[in-house]
Amino acid sequence: MTPPSVLIVGSGIIGAGFAYAAAQRYLPTRVISSLPVNSGGTATANSWAWINANTDNDRSYFDLRHASMQLWQRWMQIVPDLVASSSGGFVWDMDPETLRAFAACHEEWGYPVELLSADAIAAKLPCLCDVPALAAYVPTEMAIEPGDAVSALLAAGAIEPEQRHVHSLMIDQDRVYGVMTDDGPCTADEIILASGNGTPALLESVGAAIQMTPTTGLLVKTQPLPKFLPHLLTAPDYHVRQTCTGQLLIGGTFNHHQTPDAGQSQQDAATELAARVECALHCPASLEVASFSLGQRVIPKGGRPRIGRIQRSDGREIAGLYLAVMHSGISNAAAVADHGIAEIVTGAPSPLLTPFRPGSGAIHESGSRTG
Ligand SMILES: Cc1cc2nc3c(=O)[nH]c(=O)nc-3n(C[C@H](O)[C@H](O)[C@H](O)COP(=O)(O)OP(=O)(O)OC[C@H]3O[C@@H](n4cnc5c(N)ncnc54)[C@H](O)[C@@H]3O)c2cc1C
Repeated sequence: MTPPSVLIVGSGIIGAGFAYAAAQRYLPTRVISSLPVNSGGTATANSWAWINANTDNDRSYFDLRHASMQLWQRWMQIVPDLVASSSGGFVWDMDPETLRAFAACHEEWGYPVELLSADAIAAKLPCLCDVPALAAYVPTEMAIEPGDAVSALLAAGAIEPEQRHVHSLMIDQDRVYGVMTDDGPCTADEIILASGNGTPALLESVGAAIQMTPTTGLLVKTQPLPKFLPHLLTAPDYHVRQTCTGQLLIGGTFNHHQTPDAGQSQQDAATELAARVECALHCPASLEVASFSLGQRVIPKGGRPRIGRIQRSDGREIAGLYLAVMHSGISNAAAVADHGIAEIVTGAPSPLLTPFRPGSGAIHESGSRTG
């Protein structure tokens, strides 16, 4: 059987993941994106990039994220330059009872979560000024530098993204067969929409819809410091990790919409966030804000990923079109791409992805805590 050619719209982490998974199966693959790789206009470039399966899960979402964590580990062994920049996640942004319930439930599901008391936390995190009484620690959680990861996956698949804006999808009866770009039409057997918040406009062109509820997240980058923080920390009023260049990458709470308070400038909000972390940690030098970003999360209505074939408003399924739109895309990308490409090639549904179909009713009204 001739392998299907795929055309991926989007070169964020989801597009790059699909491109790599397609290349692993020797599919003729193109990636088209209106923005360059690691452009500040994408969610990927503005991500805290914590790879985890931590809290806010039902069983099916946990299984997807946990499988993805394991696949990321495998990819890091075989993809040149794909590396974790921090490892081991500490979380104490909930009350002790909730933390214990989370740990008990996730441990039963196979998550390697440890509950640590103050002494054990202090021993692992000598940089903490105020040590919490209890924290959950997951040694297998990690972070990547998302721009570097996208570049590594595309390079491993020998794929050079083409920078073009896609205006619409091209459809003949119920089969999508291409996209219309600035430079004219491009055709393929399968079009994969890894187009983040640009997806609703593209679906509209074929009479289909997805509702998105994007929110904004502020992240602050400091000037580089000597390495002192190898782990990821999620405290009640900040989350922080140190990047591979030594910069601290700091976010606020995980409540959605981390925009500056009314009347506060973005610069002031960024300075305030850095000051909060400076009070919380013994840093090797004082913190200077180098830059900050306000990223738009890609959140389908209901909070859960939407992956797979989509139907038109009249209920007819569209062939040749595969959707992959989600928050927590850094955590999910590996498993979603690997199983998604397998579904496209074999036609057999993946049980891991089945709960997340576009139009599926079994979606919980919650987001996850990844950034
Ligand atoms: C502040 C913040 C913190 C986060 N923290 C975490 C975290 O800790 N862990 C985690 O797992 N997730 C986190 N996320 C979520 C994660 O970053 C996103 O889910 C993920 O990056 C989405 O990737 P994507 O490739 O789908 O979208 P994007 O990165 O937005 O990429 C979309 C791509 O589609 C292209 N595109 C769109 N429309 C068109 C068009 N019409 N024509 C051509 N190209 C088009 C764009 O050019 C771009 O290349 C965070 C997000 C934010 C904003």
